[in-house]
Amino acid sequence: MKSLLNTENNQAQSKYGIVTGASRGIGRSIAIKSADNGVNLALCCQNNIDALNTLASDLREKYGITVMTFQADVGDPSAVQSMADQILQSFPHIDYMVNNAGISIIGLITDMSVEDWNRMVSVNLSSLFYMTKAIVPSMIHQKNGSILNISSMWGTAGASCEVAYSATKGGVNLFTKALARELAPSGIRVNAVAPGCVDTDMNAGFSEEEKRDLCDEIPLGRFASPDEIADAAWALMNLSYVTGQILGADGAFI
Ligand code: NAP
Repeated sequence: MKSLLNTENNQAQSKYGIVTGASRGIGRSIAIKSADNGVNLALCCQNNIDALNTLASDLREKYGITVMTFQADVGDPSAVQSMADQILQSFPHIDYMVNNAGISIIGLITDMSVEDWNRMVSVNLSSLFYMTKAIVPSMIHQKNGSILNISSMWGTAGASCEVAYSATKGGVNLFTKALARELAPSGIRVNAVAPGCVDTDMNAGFSEEEKRDLCDEIPLGRFASPDEIADAAWALMNLSYVTGQILGADGAFI
């Protein structure tokens, strides 16, 4: 009986979080930062499940936490619901939800196919709705939770040749602000980090010369590392009186 109570107390005190798009880049760094702070994790990606499973076993071994992994397309509402059901069956509560998974397609808007437009909207914006609908009821039940969305500086400024991407990230910003107001009475905070240029696969298409030109435009003079964005995300996730904020992490680019 005593050990059952201890287990329940430990579960109540332990932290549980979800990070989408955690196989690489910014999501991977946020997962590591969260694990380093003792958070048990549910992680997902779309394709690179081997990399995600390797990360999960490294985190279990190093931090002694529980890590669940999923290969789930966050742009597919049924895949999100099925993942959420499994997470909610395994974790007693959810303290953090990080909506990080995203894609970018660069090109003239007139050249963009309807399929690519719909895919961009599903993965970058509708996914936040699917995740929120599936996970937030448990946070409301707990009267506690912190949601962190990964936006982009282009969600404020808008980028040529990234019109669809900019539109989805602008949507992420207002989804964040509106949801923060809606969920504040339930003790749930909702914020976003809006990075500038980050050294991840998403920017692998740029040549070294293009990267140098971009760095010339960034007052801090360089790309951010994914770990630097994770530091900003983790801080914002844990600021107990801050909600509805979009934190720029762009080296003063915009
Ligand atoms: P990345 O290196 O390309 O990694 C993307 C991650 O998202 C991967 O884990 C990928 O999984 C996952 N993912 C992609 N589509 C998915 C889907 N439909 N369902 C589930 N997971 C999916 O990207 P990143 O640079 O780290 O970007 C992360 C976030 O930061 C994105 O929202 C992006 O828009 C934003 N951001 C990035 C930059 C930048 O300069 N890099 C700047 C501003 C904002 P797989 O490995 O399985 O494909």
